[in-house]
Amino acid sequence: MLGMMMQSQLTLTEVMRHANANFPNSEIISVTADNPRHRYRYREAFARTAQLANALQKLGAEPGDRIATLAWNDYRHFELYYATSCSGLVCHTINPRLFPEQIAYIINHAEDRWLFIDPMFVPLLEALADQLTTVKGYVVLTDSDHMPVTDLPNAHCYEELLALEPENFDWPLLDEGTAAALCYTSGTTGNPKGVLYSHRAMVLHTYGVLMPDVFALQQDEAVLPVVPMFHVNAWAVPYAVPAVGAKLVFPGPKMGCGETLSNLIREEGVTIAAGVPTVWLALLKHLREHDQTVPSLNRVVVGGSACPWSVMEEFEQKHGVYTHHAWGMTEMSPLGTYNARVPADLPAEEARARRLKQGRAAFGVEMRIVDEQGQPPPHDGQAFGALQVRGPWICERYFKAEESALTSDGWFDTGDVATIDPQGYLGITDRTKDVIKSGGEWISSIELENFAMTQEGIAEAAVIGVSHERWAERPLLVVVAAPGAALDTRAIIRAFEGHVAKWWIPDDCILVEELPHTATGKISKKDLRQQLAEYRWPEETPA
Ligand code: ADP
Repeated sequence: MLGMMMQSQLTLTEVMRHANANFPNSEIISVTADNPRHRYRYREAFARTAQLANALQKLGAEPGDRIATLAWNDYRHFELYYATSCSGLVCHTINPRLFPEQIAYIINHAEDRWLFIDPMFVPLLEALADQLTTVKGYVVLTDSDHMPVTDLPNAHCYEELLALEPENFDWPLLDEGTAAALCYTSGTTGNPKGVLYSHRAMVLHTYGVLMPDVFALQQDEAVLPVVPMFHVNAWAVPYAVPAVGAKLVFPGPKMGCGETLSNLIREEGVTIAAGVPTVWLALLKHLREHDQTVPSLNRVVVGGSACPWSVMEEFEQKHGVYTHHAWGMTEMSPLGTYNARVPADLPAEEARARRLKQGRAAFGVEMRIVDEQGQPPPHDGQAFGALQVRGPWICERYFKAEESALTSDGWFDTGDVATIDPQGYLGITDRTKDVIKSGGEWISSIELENFAMTQEGIAEAAVIGVSHERWAERPLLVVVAAPGAALDTRAIIRAFEGHVAKWWIPDDCILVEELPHTATGKISKKDLRQQLAEYRWPEETPA
């Protein structure tokens, strides 16, 4: 027997309609290259979104066309998110920090039709334009006063295009399975792969993000996404915030600038901010050096890589800000797990250990760990396994792939190795390709890095496996000193004693000026391994 309820389609158009109808006066604030503090309200944002949808139609965009963006977090990018997806086009966000050849590969693979680019990226595209075989033209995200002189073929000025159009658009009724957005993984191994998000997945993921034990957004809040809109839908913030009618605060090109973040938080009354650990290091440094605090800020969401305890501690002790650790990936839209507030009466050591984990699965995500024999290891927080997931906002196959990306029994293998504890908390121990196998046993590089980061004077730390005659591989710790700190590498190693299993203690520690990073700001272990290919263990390494 079938239920007898309305068959409404779950589309982003409904998010836009809801926001426009119920919260026309909510604000969107942006830092852009042409305005240090642009402000307008939802009413205007969605009127301009309609103008943009008309302009796209005039440019000849057809349903399913991929419209690419190389843009920062700001109001024009926000308008693009909705104008493309809600008119049946696909919003293809591109990470401008990728290597130019990867950007060209991605644009050609996606067969993008139009490119909407921040003025800052005009030279980058000018150098690539000859190789882009499917692109019909370019729209520069600025007004006529700031429009750069460019030899890009068929280049338009965004504000000039919009000015010609009416403020309403006949939004099509889309099937919820229609593709809404496209994002490529960073391609740390091989070519980047495209994840093609549907409207349904985006709407369900938005509900998932909004849950009380996840972002728990409310209409009187102000939200600062420091996570880029060019990567994984800025963790759904541009959808979730309008869904509840809160204020959006976009940092534009100043995402890594502690001063801008501090000013935005304090002046716009930001209550919640989301981003990768490195941006918080920059903010905390700025606050420390300028003796500032951020009274309106209530919580920070940290994901993308493991969050060091020092970040959580400083936020809480100096600023009364609670840090939530979250885990996810491009293929998961990205939300997987979220570490909700732990009970206030939990003993300090236990609370710390729990908060360093990646949290519990959000409703909508199912997860399991599998050992090398395909068996489930116990959920005891100790035994490792390959982490697999399934759910309605998880990728089934990559864009243009003929084969499913799933295991034969329908799970997506995340490429992460993890533990699950009896309370259901996920602990990511490594990427599969970064796992260190010593004498047949796995050592968690993330756990070693977490401990290294608790030591005074260490700004960044990475642990990689280096081949070893007797044990196959042993852990090598590589650290970057904080400004002005003098590090004693032997003392750093000794400090591990009593904090991790004896056989996990790194055999050596070396100091480097800097660590290589990926386009999404993570430490690139692949590049680090290459850089240290000539490294040999010191003679006295105990056998
Ligand atoms: P890319 O590295 O291509 O940008 P994603 O942004 O999809 O890819 O990154 C996903 C990966 O990042 C996860 O599979 C995991 O290895 C790592 N990651 C994400 N969040 C966390 C976290 N909180 N702790 C540890 N690792 C994380």
